[in-house]
Amino acid sequence: MPRFVYDFAEGDKDQKDLLGGKGANLAEMTNLGLPVPPGFIITTEACRAYLADGAEPDGMAAEVTEHLATLETAMGRRLGDPDDPLLVSVRSGAKFSMPGMMETVLNVGLNDASVHALAARAGDDRFAWDSYRRLVQMFGATVLGIESEHFSDAVEAAKKAKGTRNDLDLDAGDFERLVETFKGIVREHAGRDFPQDPREQLDLAVHAVFDSWNSPRANLYRRQERIPTDLGTAVSIVSMVFGNLGMDSGTGVAFTRDPASGARGVYGDYLQNAQGEDVVAGIRNTLPLTDLEQLDKTSYDQLMDIMTTLENHYRDLCDIEFTIERGKLWMLQTRVGKRTAAAAFTIATQLVDEGMIDLDEALRRVTGAQLANLMFPRFDRDAEKKLLTTGMNASPGAAVGAAVFDSATAVARARSGERVVLVRRETNPDDLDGMIAATGVLTSRGGRTSHAAVVARGMGKTAVCGADELEVDVAAKRFTTSDGVEVAEGEVISIDGTNGEVYLGEVPVVASPVVSWFEGTLHEGTGDDLVDAVARIMRHADETRRLNVRVNADTADDSGRARRFGAEGIGLCRTEHMFLGDRRELVERLVLAESRDEREKSLAALLPLQMEDFTAIFREMEGLPVTIRLLDPPLHEFLPDLTELSVEVALARERGEVDQEREDLLVAVRRLHEQNPMLGLRGVRLGIAVPGLFAMQVRAITRSAAELAAQGVSVHPEIMVPLVGTVQELQAVAAEIAEVVAEPESHVNGAPVPHQVGTMIELPRAAIVAAQIAESAEFFSFGTNDLTQTTWGFSRDDVESSFFSEYLEQGIFGVSPFESLDVEGVGHLVELGAREGRRTRPDLKLGICGEHGGDPDSVHFFHRVGLDYVSCSPFRVPVARLEAGRAAV
Ligand code: ADP
Ligand code: MG
Ligand code: MG
Repeated sequence: MPRFVYDFAEGDKDQKDLLGGKGANLAEMTNLGLPVPPGFIITTEACRAYLADGAEPDGMAAEVTEHLATLETAMGRRLGDPDDPLLVSVRSGAKFSMPGMMETVLNVGLNDASVHALAARAGDDRFAWDSYRRLVQMFGATVLGIESEHFSDAVEAAKKAKGTRNDLDLDAGDFERLVETFKGIVREHAGRDFPQDPREQLDLAVHAVFDSWNSPRANLYRRQERIPTDLGTAVSIVSMVFGNLGMDSGTGVAFTRDPASGARGVYGDYLQNAQGEDVVAGIRNTLPLTDLEQLDKTSYDQLMDIMTTLENHYRDLCDIEFTIERGKLWMLQTRVGKRTAAAAFTIATQLVDEGMIDLDEALRRVTGAQLANLMFPRFDRDAEKKLLTTGMNASPGAAVGAAVFDSATAVARARSGERVVLVRRETNPDDLDGMIAATGVLTSRGGRTSHAAVVARGMGKTAVCGADELEVDVAAKRFTTSDGVEVAEGEVISIDGTNGEVYLGEVPVVASPVVSWFEGTLHEGTGDDLVDAVARIMRHADETRRLNVRVNADTADDSGRARRFGAEGIGLCRTEHMFLGDRRELVERLVLAESRDEREKSLAALLPLQMEDFTAIFREMEGLPVTIRLLDPPLHEFLPDLTELSVEVALARERGEVDQEREDLLVAVRRLHEQNPMLGLRGVRLGIAVPGLFAMQVRAITRSAAELAAQGVSVHPEIMVPLVGTVQELQAVAAEIAEVVAEPESHVNGAPVPHQVGTMIELPRAAIVAAQIAESAEFFSFGTNDLTQTTWGFSRDDVESSFFSEYLEQGIFGVSPFESLDVEGVGHLVELGAREGRRTRPDLKLGICGEHGGDPDSVHFFHRVGLDYVSCSPFRVPVARLEAGRAAV
């Protein structure tokens, strides 16, 4: 039979699963000998059983009785004793901190009798009645589910009657009357009396905390933070200490260092004569923690000592809650504190310098997501800003533009060169054009998994979502803030997708110093602490990682930037854009060619152009491998739109003008039109169906490489065949490649220019028969974008904006499989392909070149399954380096 209750002295900080974060850390502090009010913890296991069965598990009540008795003995008082009551708080606390999401009830044990004893003991009537009215208020709201406004309205009325706005002006009599009023509110709205039995109060409060795990706001928070829904909360029962016993008492919160910058110092707030949440609720102005030194030097010094103890013990920034009861300091909570991305890096290196952690641990404490966050351009911190509201930071970045309220206007204004921010209540698939046209998206509803957020993140577009204080009036083309500020269509706003802030007017944008450092325009050791910290940790990541990091790039510019960002080669150079623009006409002719001769002519015209492209890239990536993928997309993508061309030809015919070229083109476009282009004539199929096409591309690769090699430039081309499903396809192309390589122009110093031939693994079949395919491939590159599409049977372009947000909302996906690799399904195929391939060819080089190459979780997976490199977009290269390092420590 499991145990459901643990004394503080029985737990430690590593038992967050069972005791919740708050309980585990209270136990840890108790065992460190810090002044924690005694108490015990009911486990998350009890909560899960309660939520499953709707009742306490067998044995829990007896264990509570037993631990309560021990607590009563230790404190020398009994819970709610009419002559000398023990009071307790009943506090929620899950494995992952969910600030403010669940419930806590203070002062449990007060009733009509014990309130008098409390008053006598403290020698303070006002305090006792204030504590009692707080209990009825909190109990009424959280346990009995009464709207909290009923209570706060009554408090306001009492203050008004007294002619004051300050709760300190209310006296014992006022609070005693408030207790009566509150009891009336309970009777009216809950249909029962406020329970006088202390144990009944305790049990009901415990159940309410259990139930608060499933409150709508807790559910929403978990979805957004990707916290599992089945963990449950623990409940800590803590003897009350009182910060509301006069001006020599108070309550406060503190950080062991600045959570925004990591700077050491005294950070916190303190409020005299106050209890619990008064500090954060902002009922009175708090004092800076430094003022406590004047007010109560003994407690202040002790607090500073304790903070040092905690930092040394947790070896990290901690935040704490404390209370001073008549000059005696009590610790009520601690945890490793949340921090900004910048502070994560600076704190980690500070702790290294202080000898508290080593560089491996520093690397573990920062994340690729934090680094990515630091790489976005940002609003100038020193610029003057007018804050309109704050929403959810749904997709990072800084966007400035004219507010527009519908997609058509967004598209129209963007077309005329204006920057716009699309403002909607929420978006739906019809808004896609507008989202693409806008520099940023702002919505008043929905969170980080809403349509707007998912699509914006997919497009790398700045978005702030769920700014619910905004009244968006699409019909009137304006929005209104809660302070009544109106913003009409065309007025410029600035939105910060990194912190969720929305400003009126144009806020100047500055480049990230971290990017400037990567670019080499800002140097380490020149006074920017963040840059120094990032540089040190990146260096350690590079020394630690086993995975190489390459880039997906198909221009010399992108290649150069990626190289500065640390790319160790190109993992995917797509060739399709090289067929667009002015070259479209040549491609059209190639497709339309009726004779071998005509085809050869267009190919010959394309050859020198392709050679130029490759020469520029090879030069930029001198000394590093460059993987070039032969043409992949369906041919019709290079031809005019079928509908538009049909209309054009029909109109011409009506006018009696027959243009044979357009007519032929229409026939070809029709012939090549596919219902399902993603599953149609593309990749290696195209290479086989259009003779000479791949040969031309290979010729361009080997000839430009041979020319450069002859000039002494070190080139390492890798020719990659896309969409292979069977080894026969690869053999056919390999034979064609061998012929080209045999041509004298592909030679340098009398031998073929060094190169490799490999394939993409992007069809489930290819992963399954990888052992056969490896007979003809010197390397594999897992194309996880297509592999995800072909494994799931959905096309990214079609589904991301349609049902994905619904799937995320309902929890069918925790995260989009295009964002983070579906390890169970697609990952299984990657693992299989890697294993099978190496069975045939032990030195087979393995890489991945989908978007997943820059996704932190996916990088850890690729490390685990033994790939040689990941390849991702230029801006993700630093993220992949960092995560590859983290995967290896
Ligand atoms: P949350 O998780 O929302 O911070 P807590 O359980 O920490 O909720 O409690 C809410 C407030 O009540 C905090 O300010 C806390 O310090 C205070 N509090 C909790 N238990 C006690 C206690 N036993 N004595 C005095 N204050 C308490
Ligand atoms: Mg707390
Ligand atoms: Mg592909």
